[in-house]
Amino acid sequence: MLEYLVAKALADKLDVVQALYDYFVNGVSPSVLAVRYGLSKHQIRGYIQRITEKTGSLTRARIVIKYATPFILRVRPVMKRVGENLVKCMVCGDELPIQVAEDHIKKYHSTLLSEYIGAVIELMRRELRASREGIEHSKVSESVK
Ligand SMILES: [Zn+2]
Repeated sequence: MLEYLVAKALADKLDVVQALYDYFVNGVSPSVLAVRYGLSKHQIRGYIQRITEKTGSLTRARIVIKYATPFILRVRPVMKRVGENLVKCMVCGDELPIQVAEDHIKKYHSTLLSEYIGAVIELMRRELRASREGIEHSKVSESVK
C-alpha cells in the first residue's frame, strides 16, 4: 500500500495522493474530489477500491493514509511532464506515456522506490514515537501538579 502511494508520488501524481487523503481522512465525497482534482469519479472510485483492497479494511486504510500522507507529499517526483500525456524519467532519461510511469518506476527503479518507502516508514515511526512520548510527558507533568 505504501508502495502504491510512494510510486504515485514519484510519478508526479501527488494530486491522487491528496485526493485519497481527502477521501479517507476528511470524508470528502468522490464527486467533490472529481471536481477538485480534475479526475473522473470513475478514476477516484478506482483509486479508493485499490487502496481498500491493498489494506484489507477501510479503517486500516484510513490510519495508514492519515499518518503516511504528510511524508509522501514531501517526496520529490522523478517524472517530469514533457507533453500532454508524456513524461520524462529524470533517473534514466527515458520518455514514456504518463499511464505507465508507476510501472516504469517499479520495474526499473525499484531500489529508489524501496529507499523512499523505507524513509517514509522511518519518519512515520519517529512521529509515532514522538507522539507517544508526548503523551507520557503530559502524564508526568499532570502527576507533578
Ligand atoms: Zn527511468
